Amino acid sequence: MPEGDTVWRACKRLDQALGGQELIRTDFRVPTLATTDLSGRTMLEVVARGKHLLMRMSGGVTLHSHFRMDGSWHLYKRGERWRGGPGHQIRAVLETSSWTAVGYRLPVLELVATDAEQSVVGHLGPDLLSPSFDRAQAIANLEADPERTISEALLDQRNLAGIGNFYRTEVCFLLGLHPTRPVASVDVAAAVDLSRRLMKANLRNGTQVSTGVDRPGQRSWVFERAGKPCRRCGTTILSASIGEPPRDRISYWCPGCQPET
Ligand SMILES: [Zn+2]
Repeated sequence: MPEGDTVWRACKRLDQALGGQELIRTDFRVPTLATTDLSGRTMLEVVARGKHLLMRMSGGVTLHSHFRMDGSWHLYKRGERWRGGPGHQIRAVLETSSWTAVGYRLPVLELVATDAEQSVVGHLGPDLLSPSFDRAQAIANLEADPERTISEALLDQRNLAGIGNFYRTEVCFLLGLHPTRPVASVDVAAAVDLSRRLMKANLRNGTQVSTGVDRPGQRSWVFERAGKPCRRCGTTILSASIGEPPRDRISYWCPGCQPET
């Protein structure tokens, strides 16, 4: 599941390659855009908002995409072989004179007017990776529902944008919080600051690490480690689905380090 840092990195690469360039060919393989042709337009910039990607083009149009579970944009030099998956998973192809961007498995792909972007990303809370991150607003958003569990509140993109299951899980562990702890009993500012610090630290190296050890199998404290011993206290790590669907993504925790009360 791509989180904000993954989208941010993809965004940066796409912006560097396509920004300021004219599109010489576009090919959309989703029904709603089947007849859309954006060739001749200039890609002005590519920006990330939480886990949303906005490609702003001349003529006041924005191509909006969201990665959800396993979508991605790949960038290829002209003539290079495409390796993002079988052809039937391709949703969009954007070509400039030197680069081809290929969107795979994108569950959300739509065209909106650039001045109406708020209709697709306006619901998002402050973006954790934005240089102008509004910390006070993010804290206020989380604290507005004091009865909610901290694990659900952290994952809700209306509270703060960009965080996904890896970070919310690891942040709860690092702060010693059982995932069902109500927001009212949590140092929300500490959770926000730690989330931001972890995500920013991982922007450069391209992997999600919370342990400081960037090696396979050692990158997380509890995330996807159910049944294994806690790295800190040896207690067996548990997992469960917490909260109402569709926010019922699996939580992982150590009962020793993250007691329920
Ligand atoms: Zn433990």
